[in-house]
Amino acid sequence: MVDERVLQREILAVGRALAAAMPAPARHPLKALDDKAMDLASSDRELKAALFRFIDVVPACRSLDDLARHLTGFLGELNTPPPPVSAAMRMGNTRAGRTALGKAAAFGVRHMAHRFIVGEDPRDALPVLRELWKGGVASSVDLLGEATVTQREAEHYAGRCSDALEAIVAASRAWPSRPQLERDAAGPLPRANLSVKVSALTPLLRADAPERGKRDAAERLRGLLRQARELDAHLHIDMESLDSRDAVLELVLELLAEEEFRPGPSAGMVLQAYLRDSPETLDAVVDWARGAGAARERPLTVRLVKGAYWDHEIVEAAQHGWTAPVFEVKADCDRNYEALTRRLFDARHEGTGVRVAIASHNLRSVSHAIAYNRLSGGADLDIELQVLRGLGDPLQVAIAAQGLHVRTYCPVGDLVAGMAYLVRRLLENTSNDSFLHEQARGVPVDELLEPPGGTPEAPAPAPA
Ligand SMILES: Cc1cc2nc3c(=O)[nH]c(=O)nc-3n(C[C@H](O)[C@H](O)[C@H](O)COP(=O)(O)OP(=O)(O)OC[C@H]3O[C@@H](n4cnc5c(N)ncnc54)[C@H](O)[C@@H]3O)c2cc1C
Repeated sequence: MVDERVLQREILAVGRALAAAMPAPARHPLKALDDKAMDLASSDRELKAALFRFIDVVPACRSLDDLARHLTGFLGELNTPPPPVSAAMRMGNTRAGRTALGKAAAFGVRHMAHRFIVGEDPRDALPVLRELWKGGVASSVDLLGEATVTQREAEHYAGRCSDALEAIVAASRAWPSRPQLERDAAGPLPRANLSVKVSALTPLLRADAPERGKRDAAERLRGLLRQARELDAHLHIDMESLDSRDAVLELVLELLAEEEFRPGPSAGMVLQAYLRDSPETLDAVVDWARGAGAARERPLTVRLVKGAYWDHEIVEAAQHGWTAPVFEVKADCDRNYEALTRRLFDARHEGTGVRVAIASHNLRSVSHAIAYNRLSGGADLDIELQVLRGLGDPLQVAIAAQGLHVRTYCPVGDLVAGMAYLVRRLLENTSNDSFLHEQARGVPVDELLEPPGGTPEAPAPAPA
C-alpha cells in the first residue's frame, strides 16, 4: 500500500527532474512557424475547423492554383478572419498570388506532416530509427493506412508490414548495444518493434458482425505473428475506435493463446483509459494473463493510453442519442489513467505476465507512473515510457537523459495515407484540454504535477 502523501512528494521530485531535463523550446524558425499556426488554430474554433477541412482535401488537389482556391474558399467562410488570414485571402485574388499561396500552403502542410511522420516507407525511416537508438531511444514503427475497404488493400497492408519487419530487423542487427533498452526483469526486449492496426488487415471489421472481421483478420495477423516470432521482433496491436474494440481485443487474446504462439513472439495490446468501462477491460486482460496467457513464454505488453478518438466517440454517441462511452471531464479521464496505472503495476508485481508501457505526454501521468512503480517495489527499468514522434520529443529527450526506458512511436507513410493521423495529432495539439497546450501556455511545473482535478493534501516532508 503506497502512502498518498509520500507518493505526491515522489511525483513532484520525478516531474521536476524530467522538466529540468527537457530541452529549451526549439529555436528553429520552421518549428516556430508550426507553433504559431497551432496557437492561432487553438484560439479560434472556426479557423481550426476551416484548417482541418483544408488539410483533408490537400491530397486531392491537382495544382497549386487548386490548393489556393480551396484554402481561400474555406478561410472565406470565417466571420472574423485574423490578420494573417486576411492577408492570405488578398493573395487569392490574382493568379500569381494564388500560385504563391498554393506553394506556401503545400509547403506548410508537408512540413507539418513531416514533424509527425518519419518517412514515406520503412527504409526511409531506418536512419531515424538508428539515430534514436544511438541516443538511448527505442522505436515502434507504424505503417499509416487505416480502415482498409478491399481485400486487395488488406493484402497490401499485410505485405507492407511483413517487408517492414524484415527491413527493421536486418538494420537493427547493426545498431550498437544499449542494455537499458534490450532487457528488463521479465527478459529480453526485441530491438525491432512494429505497431499494426486490425482495421487495415481486413475490410470486414464491423461492429454488427465482429466474428466475420475477426476471422478475416486472423489469418493475416497469424502470418505477421509467425514472422515476428521467427525474426524475434515485437508486434503491437493498436486500438482504434470503440466500435472495433471488443473484436480487436478478443482477436489478439485468442491468437496469442494459441499453442504455436506459446514461445513468442513478444506482443502487446492497448488499453484506452478514456473509456468508462476500461477498468472492466483491464480485469479481462489480467484474467487472461493469469489464465490462458500464463503458458506463454513472453509477457503481454499492455500499452496504457488515454485514447485518440475522443472527438469521434463524443460525436458518434450524440448522433445516436447514446450516453458517451468516454469520460467527458478531462480530470476524470486522467484519474482513471492513474487508477489503471496502479492496477497494472500491482498485477506485474504479483507476477502476472504483463509488461507495462505508459504512453502519454502528460508530465503528471508519466511522473505518477514512475513514482508509483518505485514506491510499490518496482525497478525503474521495468516500466516503458512511450511517446509519439513530433508531440513527445522534449519528453523523450528528458526520459532518455534520466536513463529510463523510452520508446518513440514512428509513423511511416505518404501524405495521403497520413491525413487521418495528421488530423488526429493536430486535434490533440490544439485542444484546450490537452496537457501539451497547458504546458505551452507556460503553466508552472508544480501546478502541472498536481493530482487531476485538484490540489492534494500537502506532501509529506522529505525524510532527513
Ligand atoms: C506511443 C503511443 C501509442 C499510442 N497508441 C494509441 C492507440 O493504439 N490507440 C489510441 O486510441 N491512442 C493511442 N495513442 C494516443 C493517445 O491516446 C493520445 O496521445 C493521448 O490520448 C494523449 O494523451 P496524453 O496523456 O499525452 O495527453 P493529455 O493532454 O493528458 O490527454 C489528452 C487526452 O485526454 C482525453 N480527453 C481530452 N479531452 C477530454 C475530456 N473533456 N474529457 C475526458 N477525456 C478527455 C483524450 O483521450 C485526449 O487525447 C498513443 C499514444 C502514444 C504516445
